[in-house]
Amino acid sequence: MGMNALEEFRQSVGPRGPVAVVGGRTRWQLGGSVDPQARLVAAPQGIEALDPSEMTVSLGAGTLLAALDEALAEHGQEVALDGPPGATVGGALAVGHDSLRRRRIGSARDVLLQADYVDAQGELIKAGGPTVKNVTGYDLCRLLVGSLGTLGFFGQVILRTRPRPEATRWLSGAASPQRFLTEIYRPATILWDGQQTAVCLEGYQEDVEKQAMKLHSLGLETSGPLCPMVLPPHRQRLTEGPLKSGTIADVGSSVLYAPQPAEAPVIAPEVQRVVDRLRHQFDPEGRLNPGRNPQRMST
Ligand SMILES: Cc1cc2nc3c(=O)[nH]c(=O)nc-3n(C[C@H](O)[C@H](O)[C@H](O)COP(=O)(O)OP(=O)(O)OC[C@H]3O[C@@H](n4cnc5c(N)ncnc54)[C@H](O)[C@@H]3O)c2cc1C
Repeated sequence: MGMNALEEFRQSVGPRGPVAVVGGRTRWQLGGSVDPQARLVAAPQGIEALDPSEMTVSLGAGTLLAALDEALAEHGQEVALDGPPGATVGGALAVGHDSLRRRRIGSARDVLLQADYVDAQGELIKAGGPTVKNVTGYDLCRLLVGSLGTLGFFGQVILRTRPRPEATRWLSGAASPQRFLTEIYRPATILWDGQQTAVCLEGYQEDVEKQAMKLHSLGLETSGPLCPMVLPPHRQRLTEGPLKSGTIADVGSSVLYAPQPAEAPVIAPEVQRVVDRLRHQFDPEGRLNPGRNPQRMST
């Protein structure tokens, strides 16, 4: 991976005609089908520079998340991106779903420090930076996360890394989740299915032990290193009202896992106007990932 690969990627996108960028296709249909006329391109792969002391990694956006995770594990680090086997870094950023561990490791949006992306004119643009001085550039990076490639295609990115937890433990039991929000120090995840609560603790072994003792006293039992609940396949926005049977809430986030896909969201006209203007400014001819709509993200 290097300047050549990035330049080749830029040329493959080019300045004309509908074009779509493909990662590992694990969320390919998310946000609607891409116009079949679009040419398919793929971002470069490979780690360019790993700097554990600065806690940053620079890499091609087409790199597999699993390959990145393996490289970072050697240094006791990780990035706050998650996905199934085959998922790429660019895809995970473009989708922008937070990890289930978000309460502890932060959001996908905060992972991206710098992006070299190809815009609708086929130009290579640098946004953000590993040391954040320029707030405008920093925010542009954040805007690209979750935009499903409709505003630009990630070519190379610099990501923030973080220490890997020494220990991970899930506990579960019949209890309401509210008290765990206040009585436990930064649990990684709290899931609730309406009756059972599952809590994930992670961090230093000693801290995890202490927090686990507290959870035992509140009625939860240790269930092991893996999530004891099977998450239904459809990720939706949490709405008000009682939890429907078969759904699981990711407590403290706005995410609900459900057996059925969500109905199309109702989008306020004001919001739609802002989104349309933004997309038009970035891509006046609508050539990047035509047909995709990040506002139809529910799976
Ligand atoms: C079982 C499962 C579990 C998951 N768990 C998590 C989780 O815990 N946390 C989490 O954050 N996410 C999770 N995800 C979502 C996951 O992050 C995405 O599915 C995946 O990372 C998308 O990557 P991909 O390479 O397969 O992208 P693709 O499916 O190939 O593409 C998805 C979208 O990204 C766009 N895209 C791809 N590459 C680029 C690029 N270089 N520049 C711009 N746009 C691009 C594509 O055009 C497309 O619109 C999960 C998904 C599944 C199926």
